[in-house]
Amino acid sequence: MPRVAIVGGGPAGLMAAEQLAMVDGLEVAVFDAMPSFGRKFLMAGKGGMNITHSEPMPVFVGRYGARQTVIAPLLEAFGPQQLREWIGGLGIATFVGSSGRVFPMEMKAAPLLRTWLHRLRGAGVQFHVRHRWLGWAAEGTLRFATPAGEKALAFDAVILALGGGSWAKLGSDGAWVALLAERGIPIAPLKPANCGFDVAWSAHFSERFAGQPVKPVIGSVAGRRQQGEFNITAGGIEGGLVYALSAPLRDALATKGHAVLYLDLAPGRTLARLTADLARPRGRDSLANHLRRRAGIEGVKAGLLRELLPPETLTVTDHLAAAIKHLPLPVTAARPLDEAISTAGGVVFEALDANLMLRDLPDVFCAGEMLDWEAPTGGYLLTACFATGRAAGQGARAWLSGLS
Ligand SMILES: Cc1cc2nc3c(=O)[nH]c(=O)nc-3n(C[C@H](O)[C@H](O)[C@H](O)COP(=O)(O)OP(=O)(O)OC[C@H]3O[C@@H](n4cnc5c(N)ncnc54)[C@H](O)[C@@H]3O)c2cc1C
Repeated sequence: MPRVAIVGGGPAGLMAAEQLAMVDGLEVAVFDAMPSFGRKFLMAGKGGMNITHSEPMPVFVGRYGARQTVIAPLLEAFGPQQLREWIGGLGIATFVGSSGRVFPMEMKAAPLLRTWLHRLRGAGVQFHVRHRWLGWAAEGTLRFATPAGEKALAFDAVILALGGGSWAKLGSDGAWVALLAERGIPIAPLKPANCGFDVAWSAHFSERFAGQPVKPVIGSVAGRRQQGEFNITAGGIEGGLVYALSAPLRDALATKGHAVLYLDLAPGRTLARLTADLARPRGRDSLANHLRRRAGIEGVKAGLLRELLPPETLTVTDHLAAAIKHLPLPVTAARPLDEAISTAGGVVFEALDANLMLRDLPDVFCAGEMLDWEAPTGGYLLTACFATGRAAGQGARAWLSGLS
């Protein structure tokens, strides 16, 4: 009986396993280094599992930036709508939040994962935890480190779904990069995506404002704009708005050595209106009171102005209004990959055929976050993991049926 190994039991690997479990006369085994499956998936569900997005397909596909052309056909086959139907098939309803984001009804990943694993087990999929893949032995078998010692196992096809390189304690540590690079597979360096940044705050600002949200605000970098909020940290910034702009910030740091996030602290007012509001007589008001009463700027927003502007700018109405609408916040470095929500870089699509099989290692397929694509948060990450897992599983199925 042909045997298929899926290495990595996150959403991409499990979706690949599901495609193969449907085939009679095939032995399907999922291996994971960790003591249980889907740990990052469960973590993604902690603050409310945003599994996909309801926006129109052209906009959705555009979120994958430079990789949208290669991701588009995979999403056409299994995109947000199909994903919602598939989740429905597990007995879990989904709903569209006010932002257009899609969540499972209970907002959590655990019920979905539990039901899914149960269904896969029922379909005959074998699961092996505490099996860390170590690469290939000379005769082509897969090497695994297990609590019972090292094992070498032979398979007719292998699907690698090993994740990116962030939150290593959840299982995906990027150690696979060296194993594939050894075999000559081209891999774009792993980089943090949807990550925070370091900022050289003064001690005073950091002590006073660390942990505070800045909202509402519009951020812009290199022509990309994002409305939302972010948080001040002791040494920098993090949160939704920053994650959404993290790719251009990270790339500017890498290419130019410096990067600036521009903030509009008064998104509800035009520059002309803000200038007129601030030009009204201040009387005996302090600057802080004047900013609060006339422009709604107070707390951390006022702190940012004092932190980032020369004192003389604060006293000239035109300059102050212009700075509130376009405040430059220089960032000094991206936070390390391990802290990022997701990973950019990975196995390049040029190394894969349309079925996500490695051109130079026939019978080995790749899926999920280990591929070289990136997207913002908003459900785009999981949707692409499911779509690529499905494509790799179906690709392996087609390849195996061609062999028989
Ligand atoms: C805090 C947080 C919140 C998130 N929230 C969201 C969200 O709301 N919406 C969204 O779309 N995305 C979210 N994500 C991202 C999403 O969870 C990931 O993109 C997704 O889990 C990646 O799926 P994957 O199957 O490719 O890899 P993973 O889920 O990382 O799974 C890879 C598996 O491979 C195993 N593995 C790795 N190396 C080996 C080895 N050598 N041998 C054996 N097994 C190995 C790992 O143990 C792991 O189980 C979030 C991520 C984080 C960290």
